[in-house]
Parts: sequence; C-alpha cells; structure tokens
Amino acid sequence: QVTDPLAKEGPSSPSYDWFQTDALVTIVIYTKQKDISLDSVTADHWDDSFRAETVIKDYSYLIHIALSHEIQEDFSVRVVDNVGKIEIVLKKKENTSWKCLGHPLENHNSLIPKKDTGLYYRKCQLISKEDVTHDTKLFCLMLPPSIHLQVPTGQHVYFKLTITGTEIVKPCTPVSDPLFSELKEPVLPNNKYIYFLIKIYPAGLFTPELDHLQIGDYVSVSNPKGNFKISQFQELEDLFLLTAGTDFTPMVKVLSYALTNISSLRKVKLMFFNKTEDDIIWRSQLEKLSFKDKRFDLEFVLSAPTSEWNGKRGYISPALLSEFLKRSLDTSKVLICICGPMPFTEQGMKLLHDLNFSKDEIHSFTA
Ligand code: FAD
Ligand code: NAD
Repeated sequence: QVTDPLAKEGPSSPSYDWFQTDALVTIVIYTKQKDISLDSVTADHWDDSFRAETVIKDYSYLIHIALSHEIQEDFSVRVVDNVGKIEIVLKKKENTSWKCLGHPLENHNSLIPKKDTGLYYRKCQLISKEDVTHDTKLFCLMLPPSIHLQVPTGQHVYFKLTITGTEIVKPCTPVSDPLFSELKEPVLPNNKYIYFLIKIYPAGLFTPELDHLQIGDYVSVSNPKGNFKISQFQELEDLFLLTAGTDFTPMVKVLSYALTNISSLRKVKLMFFNKTEDDIIWRSQLEKLSFKDKRFDLEFVLSAPTSEWNGKRGYISPALLSEFLKRSLDTSKVLICICGPMPFTEQGMKLLHDLNFSKDEIHSFTA
C-alpha cells in the first residue's frame, strides 16, 4: 500500500495495473491528476528491469520492476488526456502469456517528494556539434530506444562524465524546440534528440571534456529537474524575460511555449544581456522571430560593446528595467523570468522588488 502524501492536498494517491495481449504488455498508471502530459513520465528499460518515474505535482511516483519475461528494446508511452492515465506499452520478445508482471525492485510503487528523488542517469550518444558563437556550441544528443525522456519547459537535466576517475556532474538546460528548428536546418525528427547550447570554458572542469567527445561517444544524462511550472503561464498576458550570456538557454523553450500555447498572451519581451555582439546566441533567429511575431519584442544590452554599437549598454540597472517592464494594460497578468550569472540575478531580483512586482510575478531559474 502506498502512503498518501497527496491526500492533504485533495487528490488520492496514484496506482498502477497491467494487462496483456499476445504481443504486448501494457502498464497503466492512474495518476488521478488532470495536468499529466508526456513530459511527466521518464521511463527506462535496462536488461530485464523497467523503471518509470511520473511527476505528479511536487511528488514522484515510481514503478520499478524486474520483468518476468524479456521484452523488445523499444516501447511507447501514451497519456490519456483529462483523466491522467498513462499507458506504457511494452513489446514481448516471445508471444507467451505472462503470469505476473515481475517482482518489485527498490522503491517500487512509492510516492516521494520530488526534491528527495535522486538523479537517475542513462547514456546518450553525441550525434552532432556545431559552432553557434565563438565559444558556444549546439550539441545534439540521441536517446536510446529503451528510454522515454522529455524535458519539461523551464527544466534542466544533469550531465555526468567521469574525468580521470572522478565523476563530474553539471546542470544544463535543453533548447530542443520546433520554433527554433523551423528556423534552423536540418531538422531531426521526433523526441529522440535533445539539443543543448553549451559555452566551452577553456579553464572549466566539465565543458572542455564535453567538447573533446567524438561524434558517437556517450555522456550520461539525468531525469529532468527544476521548479518551473507551466501553470505559471495560466491567463498570462505579459511575459518579460531577463537573461544574460548562456543563461539564455531556459528562455528558449519558455518563449516558444508561451508564443505557441498561451492564447491570452499579448506581449513577450526579451532583454538579453551580453558582453559583446559576438557573444549573442542565436541573434538572427531571435530577430527573425521578432519580425515574424509582432507579440515578441527583443532588446540586446551589451556590457563591453565596440564603439559602433548603437543599442543599449551596461549591466542590469533600475533605468533599463523601469523602461522595459511596462505592462501592456494596467491590469495585465505578468510573469517575469530571470536567469543569469549570480550577481545579475541577485541585482535583478532586488530591482524587481523595488519596482513592486510580487513574488508570484517573478520566476528565477536555479539548479
Ligand atoms: P567551471 O569549472 O565551473 O568553470 C567555469 C569558468 O569559470 C572557467 O573559466 C573557470 O576558470 C572560471 N571559474 C571557476 N570557478 C571560479 C570562481 N570561483 N571565480 C571566478 N571564476 C571561476 N551552461 C551552458 O553552457 N548551457 C546551459 O544550458 C546551462 N544550463 C544550466 C542550467 C542550470 C540550472 C545551471 C545551474 C547551470 C547551467 N549552465 C549551463 C552552467 C553549467 O552547469 C556549468 O556551470 C558551466 O558549463 C561551466 O562548467 P565547467 O565545469 O566547464 O566550468
Ligand atoms: P558572461 O560572463 O558572458 O556575462 C554575460 C552578461 O552577464 C554580461 O554582459 C553582464 O550583463 C551580465 N553580468 C556578468 N557579470 C555581472 C555582474 N557581476 N553583475 C551584473 N551583471 C553581470 O556570462 P556567461 O559566461 O555566459 O555565464 C553564464 C553562466 O555561466 C553564469 O550564470 C554562471 O552560472 C556560469 N558561470 C560560472 C562561473 C563559475 O563557476 N564561477 C563562471 C562563469 C560562468
């Protein structure tokens, strides 16, 4: 029996069941929550074990089983909208009837606070790497067929590499996204590919090693983490994005999700701080998007520009923010997302409070 930490919040605890046909075994997870989508589930099949972690509000429900029979490598995951039912369809290796699904492994059928779940890694293959700026590259990783993993908007994963016998773990935010891939050729299909924009620090611990990987090499990638929730977009009218350097990465999916899915949205404004023009990631893609979608405004601010730069200059400041953060209507519902180097974010948060934005109107991205 699963203890029910969700009970005090109203909904009842999740459960699972399974059924089979000659060729398939279907595991059904009843989350009893409405806002469940494909990115709520991360599932891995490894040897004879099957592991599916489902994020339900701030909790994680785990199915972890040593299967009684062999299955094929690939499987599919479906979500039945509105009723919060997840179906994971496994393909039997042999058409025999299974008497049981298998036996439970560690933490099977448990519901634990998301913050208490560890990092679970799977190996992903480096498919391509291309220069985006002088020091930032777009890495494309491929998930194995035995994995279902989609990183929710505003969330990140952890990379793990073993460097001279020591495991190094660093967070990174994927940018894979139809809006940008539309502007960027070639497009790789389906959810099997994850893209990351990564700045290589020559004196850094992790990024030079990542950069040394050859196409075809592997890197371990964790399940998604982060506290951004899509529900923060509900009824949203004005979205302001304040970001600096490579910390722009979470804004890619946030921007695209908002423009594609939020019907109440009037305006999205991105203020993007960099040192020089050469440091601006995806400048032309952003400019094209702003040209194409009149709801999207873009402002670049440089802290070390050349004398030819006609745009805004300096670090984040009261003058820049008070001019930029204008609601489209006095009563507009607003969300401000901020992500940058620590001093940038700290300074920005202080300025936002001084400008009387409430906690609910601000989201700061952290690990
Ligand atoms: P580090 O070894 O951390 O060093 C980085 C640079 O800083 C080097 O030049 C080093 O010499 C210098 N340095 C190190 N320590 C100090 C110090 N104390 N004082 C001054 N300088 C110092 N990065 C991305 O590129 N893309 C992303 O999408 C991305 N997403 C992130 C998401 C989250 C939630 C977080 C928290 C971070 C994210 N990062 C991202 C940053 C990333 O995790 C690493 O911190 C970054 O890649 C640097 O790692 P590194 O080990 O190569 O460098
Ligand atoms: P960057 O150095 O290129 O800076 C980009 C912009 O951030 C600057 O133009 C400026 O507007 C703003 N900024 C930088 N320092 C600031 C400060 N002290 N006060 C106010 N604004 C400031 O940024 P990057 O190299 O792309 O770094 C992005 C992220 O990488 C950082 O948030 C950090 O997490 C990570 N990083 C970590 C270390 C470290 O471990 N010590 C060092 C460098 C970067």
